[in-house]
Amino acid sequence: MFDVIIVGGGASGFYAAINIAEIDPNLKIAILEKGKHVLKKVRISGGGRCNVTNVESDPEKLIKNYPRGEKELLGPFYTYASQDTVQFFESRGVQLKTEDDGRIFPISNSSQTIIDCLLTETVRMGIKVFRQCALTRIEPVSREGQKRLWKVSTTKKEYECEKVLLATGSNPKIWKLIENMGHTIVPPVASLFTFNIEDQRISGIPGVSTNAEVAILPRYNSGLESTGGSKRDKRQKSQLSAEGPILITHWGLSGPVILKLSAWGAILLNDLNYHFPIRINWLPDYQLESILSLLMEKKEINARKTVVKARAVEFPRRLWTNLVKASGISKDEKWADVSKGKLQNLAEQLTEGSYMVEGKSTFKEEFVTAGGVELNEINFKTFESKIHKNLFFAGEVINIDAITGGFNFQNAWTGAYIAAQAIAKDN
Ligand SMILES: Cc1cc2nc3c(=O)[nH]c(=O)nc-3n(C[C@H](O)[C@H](O)[C@H](O)COP(=O)(O)OP(=O)(O)OC[C@H]3O[C@@H](n4cnc5c(N)ncnc54)[C@H](O)[C@@H]3O)c2cc1C
Repeated sequence: MFDVIIVGGGASGFYAAINIAEIDPNLKIAILEKGKHVLKKVRISGGGRCNVTNVESDPEKLIKNYPRGEKELLGPFYTYASQDTVQFFESRGVQLKTEDDGRIFPISNSSQTIIDCLLTETVRMGIKVFRQCALTRIEPVSREGQKRLWKVSTTKKEYECEKVLLATGSNPKIWKLIENMGHTIVPPVASLFTFNIEDQRISGIPGVSTNAEVAILPRYNSGLESTGGSKRDKRQKSQLSAEGPILITHWGLSGPVILKLSAWGAILLNDLNYHFPIRINWLPDYQLESILSLLMEKKEINARKTVVKARAVEFPRRLWTNLVKASGISKDEKWADVSKGKLQNLAEQLTEGSYMVEGKSTFKEEFVTAGGVELNEINFKTFESKIHKNLFFAGEVINIDAITGGFNFQNAWTGAYIAAQAIAKDN
C-alpha cells in the first residue's frame, strides 16, 4: 500500500515524487514506469544536453511560449516558474548556464547530470521506482469505514493508494484509459516540426541561415496559382506569421521561426495534411516598396557591377544568387542593364516570395505532441482532475505544449511541483 502512486517515470513524474517527499518524508511514494529505463526523454533532450528551462521567468511573458496552455499556466507560473527550477537544481549541486538565446542547460552539457540529480534524490528520499511496470487500469475502491482508495493495476501487480498522479506523457493507451474514466482527450497532433519544400530558390544551399518573416497563407491565396490580378491584390495578412532566425536545410526550412509556426499552427497544418503555401520576407526590415526603391538606387550606384556579385544589402551570398536567378536576372547581367520589371521581380523574391510546403520532418533536437487531457477538466490551482478527486495530472499528458527553448520541461516541472503541493498537503 502506498500513499501516492505516480504513473510515468519521466521528467514530471520524478519531479513530483521528489517534491512530495520533500514536503512530507513520511509518505510512501512509488513511481511506476512501463519501460526498462526511466527519464528516457530527458536523456535525449536538447540533443543530449537537456535544455532544462529558459531564463524568461516573468509569468506574463513565459505563457506567450505556449500555443496550448497559455491562459491556464499563468496562475501556476506565478507559483512556480523557471527561476524556481534553476533553484531546485542548483541547490542540489547541478551547475547551470544560460545561453545567449535564453536557453538554460547544465554546465556539463550533458543530460546525464539532470538524470543523476533526479535519481540520487529519489534514492535519498526512499521513493520506490518500479520499472517495466505498465499501468493497465485504475479504479476506485470503497470499503466501509475507510477512505476511498485507488486500485492501480499494472502488468506486474496491483497496488492500492490514496492519490494517483498521471505523468505518462503523450501515450495514446493512457489517453484512452483516461477517456474511459470520463475525461475528454483532445486528439494528438504533431508540434515542433520542420517544413519540407522542394524549390530551386532554396535548393543546394543547406546551412544558409538568416533572419526572415514567414507567414502561413491560406491555400487559395498563395499567389502560386495566380490567374489574373496583381500578386499584391492577392496579398493577405496571414493569421500565422512569425519573425526570427531561419535555416535552409537539405529538405526545406528549419530554425526557430519555422518551429514556432509549426507549434502555433499545429492543428491547422495537420488539417491541411502538411500541404500549404507560405510567404517569406527574407528582409523583414523592408517591404516591397522600400526594397524596390533601394534596388533602384543600387542600379545607379553599382551600374557597372553584376547583380549577383554586388548585393544590394547584407544578405547570405548563396541565397542572394538563387533569388537573383529566380528573378530572371542572368549571372553576368550588370545592374545598369537590369529592367525595371526584373528589379520588381527581385524585390518580390526578397520580400514576398511564395513557397509550397509539401510535408514535414521531425526536428530531432526536440519534438512534442499537442493534444491530451482537456484543459477545462483540470483545476490548475492543484493540477487535480475536476472529475475525480485525488487524481492528478502533470506534464505532456495534459493538452499543453510549448515552442522550443526549455518551455516544455518548464511545463512539466511547474505542473509536477504544484500537484506535489496539493498531494502532500492534506495527508
Ligand atoms: C527528442 C526530444 C528532445 C526534447 N528536448 C527538450 C528540451 O531540450 N527542452 C524541453 O523543454 N523539452 C524537450 N523535449 C520535450 C520534453 O522532453 C517533454 O515535454 C517532457 O519530457 C515531458 O515530460 P513528461 O514527464 O510529461 O513525459 P515523458 O518524459 O514522456 O514521460 C512519461 C513517462 O511515462 C511512461 N509511461 C507511459 N505510459 C505508461 C504506462 N502505461 N505505465 C507506466 N509508465 C508509462 C513513459 O514510458 C515515460 O517514461 C524534447 C522531446 C523530445 C522527444
